[in-house]
Amino acid sequence: MLEVQNLSVNYRGNRALQDVSFFIPLGQLVGIIGPNGAGKSTLVEAMLNLIPATQGTVRFKGRALKNQLLKTSYVSQRSLVDWDYPITVWNVVMMAQTVQAGLFRGFNRQARHLAGAALERVGMYELRDRPIGELSGGQQQRVFLARALAKEAEFLIFDEPFTAVDRKTEDIIFEIFQELRAEGKTLMVINHDLGDSLAIYDQLLLLNKRLIAQGPRHEVVTSDNLERAYGRGLARVFA
Ligand code: ADP
Ligand code: MG
Repeated sequence: MLEVQNLSVNYRGNRALQDVSFFIPLGQLVGIIGPNGAGKSTLVEAMLNLIPATQGTVRFKGRALKNQLLKTSYVSQRSLVDWDYPITVWNVVMMAQTVQAGLFRGFNRQARHLAGAALERVGMYELRDRPIGELSGGQQQRVFLARALAKEAEFLIFDEPFTAVDRKTEDIIFEIFQELRAEGKTLMVINHDLGDSLAIYDQLLLLNKRLIAQGPRHEVVTSDNLERAYGRGLARVFA
């Protein structure tokens, strides 16, 4: 069980997240939706203790998540932009394992095997020696997915992985999310789009500073809820 209780975040006095509480059974693929500025990225970053919360607790299997970050993998929205320096695809994926591999002094055979297998799985092994900055957005997103796979995390969080990627990447990500769920992993995915892509999720969290609704798609994506989250105009389009 993943438990978030009363999580709140302020940025310089401005409330970005207010009293958000929810439970998620392990092994689910959960979508987070809500308008721009709703606090979706803030929620996941506060859960991972990357930004400070003003209050709240986050537990994974009964213990504070922030003490189990080696079991987590996070692909942020910003992962895709900051690649001016020439790091190769291979090293991006190996980086995920630095901490674990450190236990064995350096990158051992197991770490290289995991990196290679993960890159094969996302169809990026052939491009492993390319600088990541030279790849398309979709290819980069697949490399970050490979890095998350190589880490063998139990709890994976992706911030808008389907934004600005090509169709092939979308299909690969979609397929791997389903495989990860079948393996019993827990996934939280911020999904900007309100369309048919929401069908893949076991349940949705609809956010606008507060948690507006949680549950299966047909209970969450209703005109009432959308109006509360997005205002009247958009609610009419999607209801
Ligand atoms: P979402 O991911 O749903 O688009 P964010 O979590 O990025 O929303 O942002 C929620 C709110 O917090 C927005 O109003 C945003 O402007 C504000 N915010 C986000 N990051 C910061 C920051 N580092 N400093 C100040 N305000 C921020
Ligand atoms: Mg965001």
